[in-house]
Amino acid sequence: MKHRQLRTRFAPSPTGYLHVGNAYSALICQQWAQRHDAELLLRIEDIDHTRCRPHFIAAMLEDLRWLGIRWQGEPLFQHERQDIYESAINVLREKDVIYPCFCSRRDVEREIRRTASAPHGQPASAYPGTCRHLSPRERKHLMQIRPHAWRLDSTRLRALLPEGLCWLDEHGRRHAANIDHDLVIGRKDIVFSYHLAVVMDDALQGITHVIRGEDLRASTGLHRILQYLLDLPSPVYLHHPLIRDTNGQRLAKRHGAAELRQLRQAGVDAQSLKHFLLKESGGIWPFDSLDEACRHLASASACSSVPRHEKSC
Ligand code: GLU
Repeated sequence: MKHRQLRTRFAPSPTGYLHVGNAYSALICQQWAQRHDAELLLRIEDIDHTRCRPHFIAAMLEDLRWLGIRWQGEPLFQHERQDIYESAINVLREKDVIYPCFCSRRDVEREIRRTASAPHGQPASAYPGTCRHLSPRERKHLMQIRPHAWRLDSTRLRALLPEGLCWLDEHGRRHAANIDHDLVIGRKDIVFSYHLAVVMDDALQGITHVIRGEDLRASTGLHRILQYLLDLPSPVYLHHPLIRDTNGQRLAKRHGAAELRQLRQAGVDAQSLKHFLLKESGGIWPFDSLDEACRHLASASACSSVPRHEKSC
C-alpha cells in the first residue's frame, strides 16, 4: 500500500528581517521533515500589503538558504492567491456564518465599555456583536457606502458546529475547537485574514503536519472551525516553544542582536548558529549585543573545529 506523502511547510511573513526565533522555527520544520522523510515547502505569507515589503522577501530567501534550509519546489506567495481567499469568503457568506462589520476600532471599544457594565455582559474584550443585528437591508445599504470587515457569527456557529469538533496534535491528543466571540476573518483593508489564507493554503498544498510557534496555538481552534466550514482536511499540529530573551520576552523582528542577516554579515557560521539554537540555547537567546553573540558563536565554532580530545571549552 502506498503511504501518504507527509508534508510540512515553513510560512514566514515578510514584515521585517528574519531573526533567530524564525530561524529556530525553520530548523525545527526541516528537522521534522528529515526525520519523517517528509517534504518541506516554503510559503511567503505576504497578504498584508500594509506591512510586508519586497526587500524583506529577498532577504528572507537569502537568509534561509544561508542557514541551510532547503525546500521543495518554488515558494508560494500568498499575494498571488487572492481569488482563492475571496472564493472562501463567498462560501462562508453562502453558508450565512459570517456578516459584514462596519465598526471602527473606536466603535468597538465604546460598545465593549457599555456592554461590560451591563449585568451578564460579554467578556471584557469580546466584540459585542453590534453589526450582527443589522437587517439584510441595512447591510446591503452600508456595504455600498462603508468599508467592512467580515466576522464569524459565533452564536450561529455554536448551533451549527458538531459537538466535539477537535484538532489533533502530534501525540494524537484531541483539543476542542470552540469559538466564543465574533472573530474577524476578513479584514477591512485586505478583505481576508491570515486565518482564512493559512487554512486554504495548508489544504491546497496538501500539508499533513503544521509545525509552528506556540504563539499560534490559540488560533488553531479557529483554523479547525474554518476547515470544517470550508470542507477542508485538517492537518496534525505541532506547536514548538518560542525563543525568548533573558527577560522571557519573545524575540521580535526588531531585536537587533538577533537578526539573521546581521549575524551572517558579521561572519557567524550558520552551522554554529544552528547548533546553538537546536542543542544549546534551551529556548533562550542570551545575547544583548551582536558582538556578544558573535563572540560566543565564533568560539563555539572554533571549538567544534578542533579534534575532540583537544577541546577545552
Ligand atoms: N506567517 C505566520 C508568522 O510568520 C506563521 C503562520 C503559520 O505558521 O501558520 O508568524
